[in-house]
This record gives sequence, C-alpha cells and structure tokens, in this order.
Amino acid sequence: MTLTAGVVAVQGDVSEHADAIERAAERRGRSAEVVEVRDSGVVPDCDALLMPGGESTTISRLLHDDGIAAEIVDHVEGGKPMLATCAGLIVAARDAGDDRVETLDLVDVTVERNAFGRQKDSFEAPLDVDGLDDPFPGVFIRAPVISEGGGVSEQRSAARRTESDDVAVLAELDGRAVAVRDGPVVGTSFHPELTDDDRIHELAFFAETPATR
Ligand code: GLN
Repeated sequence: MTLTAGVVAVQGDVSEHADAIERAAERRGRSAEVVEVRDSGVVPDCDALLMPGGESTTISRLLHDDGIAAEIVDHVEGGKPMLATCAGLIVAARDAGDDRVETLDLVDVTVERNAFGRQKDSFEAPLDVDGLDDPFPGVFIRAPVISEGGGVSEQRSAARRTESDDVAVLAELDGRAVAVRDGPVVGTSFHPELTDDDRIHELAFFAETPATR
C-alpha cells in the first residue's frame, strides 16, 4: 500500500525530507507518495505528516492563518504518524516558552528555543537513538532542547488525555533530551534530512512494517 506523506511546505528542507521518506519507504518494500502541504485541504488525505524546521514563530503563524493547524491536530488525534523536526517540534510542543509561537500541543513537552547558544549555533554529534542499532548523525542548527517535564496539559481534550500521552525520550545529548516520541509523533531537535541517513524517517513512519533488509 502506498503511503501518502504530507510535508508541510510553508518553510524549509521540503525536498530533502521527501527524498528521505522515499528512500525509507523503498527499504521497507513500500512506496510513498510525497505531497506538499501549503494550503488547507491536503492534510486530511495524508497517512503521515512531516513538519520541517525553519523559524517556529513564522511557521506557527502561517499554519494558523491557513487553517492547516487544525487539520494537523485532527491528523494526530486520529493516531496517524507525524515527524516534527527542530522548529517543527517547537510548533508541535505543548509549550515553546515563547508567546510568539502558537503551539499545537501535540507533543507533551516544553522546549527551550536556541538552547545551545551562539557559540554552538550549528554542530554535528553522533546520537544513540532508541530503536536504532548504530549512532545517528545529529545535525543541530540553532536547535531547541526538550524539557522532559511532560505532564498532561489542562487544555488537552479528554480524548487525548490517554496513556499514550506518556513521552518517551529517544535520544539525549549531554543529558538533555533531543528526540522524543509522544504517541504517533516523533520529534527531534536536530535535522535528520540533512544527512543521507533516513532511519529517523523510517522510525517515525514505517516502524510497524517488518524491514526487508
Ligand atoms: N531556532 C529556530 C526556532 O526557534 C529553529 C531552527 C531550526 O529549525 N533549525 O524556530
């Protein structure tokens, strides 16, 4: 069955994510059709979603202006997978620690934007990721860190206040969480699309399909 994967295309790295999704699908013996999400009306037809990085303040504004935000919330509440990277994770979080970001409250974490500071604006570090056999090359660009606080937000609808709201930390760097899973959503502080390693995309979208390798 072909997986229809929507890549939110209001900003950033769309073709790199599309390539990674297609490669991961192929390795799993699946096919993927990647569609760009620029307007409302596309997300409801997607089996999986990807929210790339960029600038979280801008992304959240554009998503809300276009009515895409509500569709993304419906997608995740329906239990369908989503991968949110860097600014995408900031937007998907419960709390971005910044009023200018209107978050979607889909990943039950608080994030701290630009947490690695100016000296380390961008860097690469190997990461041990839960579910992957070998270290993943993490590319960090003005990246956030994830506070592990979790806890169920009071604004959450009762439907989402379930056991699956438990947040699993998938990877840490220097003792700080940089990849998490909250139900159908995988969120990373780093940019998995900027390597030729598509195992994070595979983990987010195809983990339930037995590998053909
Ligand atoms: N620093 C950006 C923000 O806070 C995120 C950077 C990125 O996506 N690479 O929105």
